[in-house]
Amino acid sequence: MEMWLKEEQIESAAMTYKVKETLVRRKTDFQDLAILDTEAFGRMLVLDGIVQTTINDEYVYHEMISHIPLFTHPNPKKVLVVGGGDGGAIREVLKHPSVEKAVLCEIDGVVVEECKKHLPEISCALEDPRCEVFIGDGIKYVHEHKNEFDVIIVDSTDPFGAAEGLFGGSFYKEIYECLTEEGIFIAQTETPFYLPEVVKSVFSDAKAVFPVTKLFMAAIPTYPSGYWSFTVGSKKHDPENADLSKTIDISTKYYTKKLHKACFSLPKYVEDLIK
Ligand code: SAM
Repeated sequence: MEMWLKEEQIESAAMTYKVKETLVRRKTDFQDLAILDTEAFGRMLVLDGIVQTTINDEYVYHEMISHIPLFTHPNPKKVLVVGGGDGGAIREVLKHPSVEKAVLCEIDGVVVEECKKHLPEISCALEDPRCEVFIGDGIKYVHEHKNEFDVIIVDSTDPFGAAEGLFGGSFYKEIYECLTEEGIFIAQTETPFYLPEVVKSVFSDAKAVFPVTKLFMAAIPTYPSGYWSFTVGSKKHDPENADLSKTIDISTKYYTKKLHKACFSLPKYVEDLIK
């Protein structure tokens, strides 16, 4: 019998994946978690029916959410990842030798536990001695830490349920205070194709808090519309004009120095959204 996962990306459009095997299915305190082995994308983490990351395309998201802010900051030493329990962002962050400590603050310990078991290619750096895994709410964690992190990465689920408070002006004010003097923040901010209003409001909320606010796009096959936005808020350094002349070479599959600059060139409909 054939098994397919159907992810409803909006009420009237869905993406389907042929499933070879269900490796885990658990109800956690926060969500319905599944790790599936699929024919087209390999193993994938699915939360509440929504694909979070897959072995075959995870590099796009994790490289772009990490290397854009880390190569923009002149000397990132301490990094916070909010959400991101699969460990992919931490793996990329720890490729930067300047990083002395990377804290992962994930609300759901089961995500970390199961990704360590079933997605080791993604979660491998969670055991690195420079990484601290903290299980708790990112909103509370950010509120309780002031002037501490050089880079904050918000690698969250969509803006519903536990992640709702990770989007919007009041959280961005807390993020601003949690960052050091030259601090930079980045968040995944959904697709402008299906959710233009979310992209627009998140960008304007970030802009009200950060002196430099930029949006860039990346092509991620398993995310709705395949075209995803990231919003960067920075106290000082402009990611689009970052000095990349002295950056070290790290191994990547999607990120390049040329793309670092080019990804900020937006299609007109996206540019219009954030005007
Ligand atoms: N790359 C993914 C995407 O955009 O689809 C995000 C993946 S990552 C697994 C998202 C994580 O954010 C989930 O594991 C979820 O448990 C976590 N999360 C949601 N709300 C949170 C909160 N308030 N504090 C910390 N983590 C949270």
